[in-house]
Amino acid sequence: MSAALSTARLADRHGRVARDLRVSVTDRCNLRCRYCMPAEGLPWLAKPEMLTDDELVRLVGIFVTLGVQQVRLTGGEPLLRRSLPDLVARIAGLEPRPRIAMTTNGIGLDRLAGPLAEAGLDRVNVSLDTVDPVEFADLTRRDRLHDVEAGLAAARAVGLTPVKVNAVAMRGINDHSVADLLAWCLERGYELRFIEQMPLDAQHGWDASSMVSADELRERLSERFTITPLPAADRGSAPAERFLVDGGPATVGIIASVTAPFCGACDRTRLTADGQVRNCLFSQRETDLRGPMRDGASDDELADLITGEMWRKARGHGIGSEDFVQPLRPMSAIGG
Ligand code: SAM
Repeated sequence: MSAALSTARLADRHGRVARDLRVSVTDRCNLRCRYCMPAEGLPWLAKPEMLTDDELVRLVGIFVTLGVQQVRLTGGEPLLRRSLPDLVARIAGLEPRPRIAMTTNGIGLDRLAGPLAEAGLDRVNVSLDTVDPVEFADLTRRDRLHDVEAGLAAARAVGLTPVKVNAVAMRGINDHSVADLLAWCLERGYELRFIEQMPLDAQHGWDASSMVSADELRERLSERFTITPLPAADRGSAPAERFLVDGGPATVGIIASVTAPFCGACDRTRLTADGQVRNCLFSQRETDLRGPMRDGASDDELADLITGEMWRKARGHGIGSEDFVQPLRPMSAIGG
């Protein structure tokens, strides 16, 4: 690999440098969360459109050479990719070895947590929006709460810690039970983080006026717990504002991605399951790596495409501005 490639960094014109790569390993999912996709699912990518394991590992390797230090596997539902343990092992074999995390709905993690940890997975975030079985089935349109609970327990048992739980509150579905979810996580030692619902659903049903805001979440949690903000200086590029619960040491995080965006501290870049690099969840454009790679592009040429796309990263996502347009691809196809 050339000197130019090894010294290049994933910088943008606003002074940020990407170090965290989100890799979507599939766009398919076995849940149908209302804030994400319609009941009937979506037209999934055909196999030839998706990166093979060799292609994916090659591209992740180039990102690592360009300065990526953490790789987060996501989707769609990453556990649906059969080769996942092998992919993790191959990413763990890259030099310098990136930290490897995964965002998952937890279904199947009871079986896969052990093999994934052995392969080199370091940490896991499990998405769980409610522990009420009726609310869970309503929100995800699937009756799989027990599978998620089993997956979480397995992740903790094999040391994929700290086990984090990601939750989205939807008005009229689970917004009244957010304190129950926190109590449940505290009892089990899971670190809970709420994320404001973003306009990334395939059916374009997001509505700012009905979104449950970070302020409202905080109020609802405060009805049951004493919530004290941790100093902002402890936050770094982490998107969650963290709060001590009942004096600590347990904490809860709230990610105000819409009402208080953290774009200025963003250190993320993204690779989709079909080999497009995206500099932001909300970007209107992406750069194709799969085509050039299949046409024989060298690592240096692919690195140039990646650094060019990162340089164009916008200052902010622009939700709330008059000219905001939701990206064409939904969250599940980009990689959440
Ligand atoms: N299937 C995996 C999972 O459930 O974690 C990974 C992909 S999923 C798209 C990643 C995360 O995005 C989940 O925590 C999910 O709750 C969140 N998510 C999906 N759509 C969202 C939206 N419109 N706003 C905020 N978060 C969303």
